[in-house]
Amino acid sequence: MKAFIENLPKAELHVHLEGTLEPELSFALARKNGVALEYETPEALLAAYDFHDLPSFLAIYYKAMNVLRHEQDFFELTWQYLQKAHQQKIVYAEMFFDPQAHTSRGVPFDTVIRGIHRAQERAASELGVQTKLIMCFLRDLSAESALQTLRQALPYQDWIVGVGLDSDEKDNPPVKFAEAFSRARDAGLRLTMHCDVNQQNTLLHIRQCLETIGVDRIDHGVNSLEDPALCDIIRERSLGLTVCPVSNRFVVQSLTAAEIRRMLDLGLRATINSDDPAYFRAYLNENLLALHQDGGLTRHEIVQLVKNSFLVAWLDDESRAEYLLQVDEYLQRAA
Ligand SMILES: [Zn+2]
Repeated sequence: MKAFIENLPKAELHVHLEGTLEPELSFALARKNGVALEYETPEALLAAYDFHDLPSFLAIYYKAMNVLRHEQDFFELTWQYLQKAHQQKIVYAEMFFDPQAHTSRGVPFDTVIRGIHRAQERAASELGVQTKLIMCFLRDLSAESALQTLRQALPYQDWIVGVGLDSDEKDNPPVKFAEAFSRARDAGLRLTMHCDVNQQNTLLHIRQCLETIGVDRIDHGVNSLEDPALCDIIRERSLGLTVCPVSNRFVVQSLTAAEIRRMLDLGLRATINSDDPAYFRAYLNENLLALHQDGGLTRHEIVQLVKNSFLVAWLDDESRAEYLLQVDEYLQRAA
């Protein structure tokens, strides 16, 4: 089963590029840019990853980004993830980035996106890994800051497929960003939002995503299972849910394997993703393997989850069909 998962062609739809910053790269960039780190070695930094909920994770996460200063740093970050993705047989990825986490430190928007874009082009030509970029707004910043970020992004619109919403959900509901998301849609961008697991007012937030914002996808969204009416809407609209099991094990102490199986049984398009793999110490293959080994999901269920990623990805019909064919050909060879 390990080899079966490792060689299966896969897509990843919920990975934060800043969450792929490995301790070794962090130290290399800190040295190059003259940034002081609180820890002596990459191993000591790893040992400090003791998050147990969303705020304790975010505190460590934002501090670490301080080493990212120049275009080449964003290139290296993205290029390392894409090499890792290629090793994991990820053939297609839609990746998040958080421009406000950098522009708020004085790093220009252009520096961030140009470095990322250069790595995407290299991965497409050298590795055959196709990728798209989703720009996330930080929901603990103001609605005005989101609008300002959207204005900064529009000249680069050809490099961005959609917008998302992440960071601390508490007291930061989807409706706070209704205007930014409405303008993004008018500009032709796709819409997704995080509805993190077990957040305050989670069912209200999921409903706002569906009814007020009109999202094309929900990131996490596990709690929608608590409300049959929400599940009905998600199924009728064929919306993807990007679930991140190992991330959930850190922040809510559960792989949510039973919930993922329930989503499949209900005909919801659940997908499996790594979220912040450098922090949760698990890339996509490790997430799928944990679901099988610790969560008891069958080979058939794993295949359905992987197919769902291609089914809900923001691809044109022809590319989608080609990727699904790759999966089917692999399954025939593996049978
Ligand atoms: Zn996330």
